[in-house]
Amino acid sequence: MIKFHFELPELGYQFGDLAPMMSQETLSFHYGKHFRAYVDNLNQLVDGSKYEGLSLEELVRKAPEGPIANNAGQVLNHQLFFEQLTPARNAKRPSGEFLFLIEQSFGSVEKMVEQLDKAASSFFGSGWTFLAMDDGGELKILSLPNGDNPLRYNLKPLLAIDVWEHAYYLDYQNRRKDYLKNLWLLINWHVVSERVV
Ligand code: MN
Repeated sequence: MIKFHFELPELGYQFGDLAPMMSQETLSFHYGKHFRAYVDNLNQLVDGSKYEGLSLEELVRKAPEGPIANNAGQVLNHQLFFEQLTPARNAKRPSGEFLFLIEQSFGSVEKMVEQLDKAASSFFGSGWTFLAMDDGGELKILSLPNGDNPLRYNLKPLLAIDVWEHAYYLDYQNRRKDYLKNLWLLINWHVVSERVV
């Protein structure tokens, strides 16, 4: 019998709440099909293996390249992605200590978003663009393929931008830049700043 360790986290919004930037159809497929499949796959792969009992973060850090690392990375990446979204009317700007770190590393919020946008739009293939933090509190932008995550490079992920085609194809087809332009309107920077601690 399979014991299920990981669960699909609940969303803090309804499927229709992020439209028109992200449609109900995109959200229901991305969350209900893609994300759920990564969670189910991870449970099946970990159950009965030597990795059983490890937390999601430990799996992401420790599993060697392969199916467990891929699925654990995708579960963590999607957890970060969906948690940081909010209906556009509720989006908040960075503030406090997080704003200070942004200004130190990039000059301004606008410059940081510009660099994130450039990294995400120019990344080739399926993967993710992250805002991450090193041990010294410096913020970095990096893009990683497939289900990779900054934790594997001793960086703490703060913001995760999904650039797999499944994240935008139904709404934007091949127009990744348009997806990104609208995605910035849905980021809850308060959630992102809480990841700094
Ligand atoms: Mn995805």
